[in-house]
Amino acid sequence: MVNTMSIAGRHLTPFHSRIAALRRKLGASPHICSGTLARRMMPCGNAACRCRKGREYYHGPYYYWGRRKGGRLIQQLLSPAEAKIVNRAIRNQKTILAALRQWEEETVRWLQAGRKLRDGSLRKKNCKPARTT
Ligand SMILES: [Zn+2]
Repeated sequence: MVNTMSIAGRHLTPFHSRIAALRRKLGASPHICSGTLARRMMPCGNAACRCRKGREYYHGPYYYWGRRKGGRLIQQLLSPAEAKIVNRAIRNQKTILAALRQWEEETVRWLQAGRKLRDGSLRKKNCKPARTT
């Protein structure tokens, strides 16, 4: 029992400070979303418009948010202000997903470190030289 406590104590502080840092990342932003944001310059449908002269006269920029919903790809036109929010929200989601993966890895490492030490202490106990009298 004393052994188990010291094992837990040894790993508690660095483990929990790393997890606390990850948890701070999770709560950092009010907006998260998936998908990609595309910035496009486009011609219009008017045959007499100057945009017919070439790409340098195209209208825009237009911001399209592409994401999956129910297995289907959805494209949505956004205002520049919305595009700014979605851009940040996509980055936030990536940060959060990376933090969750790290959190899981930290937990697995923590469990394995405890197991290694426990197995070691068991092995020590079981590997006492046999008394031969
Ligand atoms: Zn045009």
